[in-house]
Amino acid sequence: MSQYKLIVSNWKMNLNFVEAKKLLQKIIQIKSEKSKVKHIVCPQFLLIPFVSNLIKNDKIEIGAQDCHFKKKGAFTGDNSIELIKKSSCKYVIVGHSERREYHKETNEIIRQKVDIIISERIKPILCIGESLNHRKARKYKQVLKEQLKKCIPEKLSEIIIAYEPIWSIGTGMTPRIEEILEVQYFIKKFLIEFKKIPKIKFLYGGSVNSNNFNQIINNSDIDGALIGGASLKIKEMKKILTFC
Ligand code: PEP
Repeated sequence: MSQYKLIVSNWKMNLNFVEAKKLLQKIIQIKSEKSKVKHIVCPQFLLIPFVSNLIKNDKIEIGAQDCHFKKKGAFTGDNSIELIKKSSCKYVIVGHSERREYHKETNEIIRQKVDIIISERIKPILCIGESLNHRKARKYKQVLKEQLKKCIPEKLSEIIIAYEPIWSIGTGMTPRIEEILEVQYFIKKFLIEFKKIPKIKFLYGGSVNSNNFNQIINNSDIDGALIGGASLKIKEMKKILTFC
């Protein structure tokens, strides 16, 4: 169990410069000194230098929502890990289901991304999760195992996993706490046994908001949350960031 909770704001392709500044200024105000929360904000790429400049004296950290798996080259529209690092990002979200779906990212591509992120000493936040059909067919553990097996190298000292059931993202539906804990246990056991990774931070993501965060994040086996929609709303974030 970690001493602090990790709250990752995935802003996705939202917020312009004015909106991002307004939201951040309010977030900076509400963060208290005794807060046991580490807050990571992941804006879209063009906002990263701007946000990074705004938070440089604060405790908030910054992450990217993706990166390319090669260092450089003819990959029109993509972003390199080198510039992500230079823009002060300490984390990169990788394997998000929206990237898997809309950009056809496979476990093999995600693994290459994880490798390049780690090679630059940045922390990947690896998203894994099953579809509703897989959950209903009780095949979710198989899907998760395949994702873990293919996306993660062995013997890392630490990894951050965000369990995000696809059917829960942006839908208002969340698994029961027992279901999240079952997955948490399954993931940790698999990574310790088969990947020899001793330290695993387990985040839950999918429709986390100010009504359900307490039960989810305050559980001692859950190290934090990856939050999409609610991370754009100051009222929601105020409740979430001050919960402990
Ligand atoms: C996400 O997309 O990572 C996410 C968790 O979204 P939401 O909180 O909106 O379900």
